[in-house]
Amino acid sequence: MDSNSNNSSTPLHDFAGLAKLLDDLGFPRVDKQTFRVVKEDLQKAIDAKNVVFDEDGIKYKFEGRLIKAYVYKKRYYVARHKDLPKFHIANCETIQSFIAKNRFESDYVISNAKLVDVIDIDNENALLENKNLYSCKNCLKLKNVNYTTTSEFGTIQEESDFDSSNTHRSSAIEVDINGYTKDWSTVSKSVRESKGYTCEACGFIPKPALYLYIHLHHINNNKIDNSPSNLQCLCIACHAKVDDSHRERFSKGDNLLQLNNFLKYKQESFK
Ligand SMILES: [Zn+2]
Ligand SMILES: [Zn+2]
Ligand SMILES: [Zn+2]
Repeated sequence: MDSNSNNSSTPLHDFAGLAKLLDDLGFPRVDKQTFRVVKEDLQKAIDAKNVVFDEDGIKYKFEGRLIKAYVYKKRYYVARHKDLPKFHIANCETIQSFIAKNRFESDYVISNAKLVDVIDIDNENALLENKNLYSCKNCLKLKNVNYTTTSEFGTIQEESDFDSSNTHRSSAIEVDINGYTKDWSTVSKSVRESKGYTCEACGFIPKPALYLYIHLHHINNNKIDNSPSNLQCLCIACHAKVDDSHRERFSKGDNLLQLNNFLKYKQESFK
């Protein structure tokens, strides 16, 4: 960074001042100690608009950024099920049915921790501490990256945060593993919001619980070109057929499942 650019009166030894300066200069905000363990009541987090369900899973808004997270049912009939609850990392059938109802069952927690606490309702609400949960089978079917346990999930998030804190200020444009700019979630949300979550091809506007089916497409297929003229708001059905590479992308796995779910919802909403 060149020293002329520091015309702020905030002292740099004050880290809040440094963070603000970097914000002003347009650097994405990722600090050294970024990995923080999050454990929050899911419904509370949703009510506070801190949860995002999008194409690649579940995210929690924390200290100004979106972090990957999972959800699980904390109060659980462990003895009855002879098993601990499973955790969800993707928009599997269970999660989709909650989203469609606009309401989660109670006792769900959103977290990114390696180990979690579970309360066994069958055993006088005994607290089972530091449990390693296994992933929901439906979620595993959907994801390209398979996190089998919470421990694995937490470890990978911790490492990727560490990697990005080492590299993120080395260049102006940082991209994620899928080739999107690091601020893509934020850009995508605000652009879709400004376009009223309306599909620019077919004109469809879903109800808010289904906004995840409204995508933002890069018209020239360059994922780092986020200029307004290159961004088009499309429902997943229109997005899936813009060209051959999109048809291919939406012909399998999580994308195909979401596409089919959307078509089902869309049909119902026109009845
Ligand atoms: Zn699941
Ligand atoms: Zn696209
Ligand atoms: Zn459409």
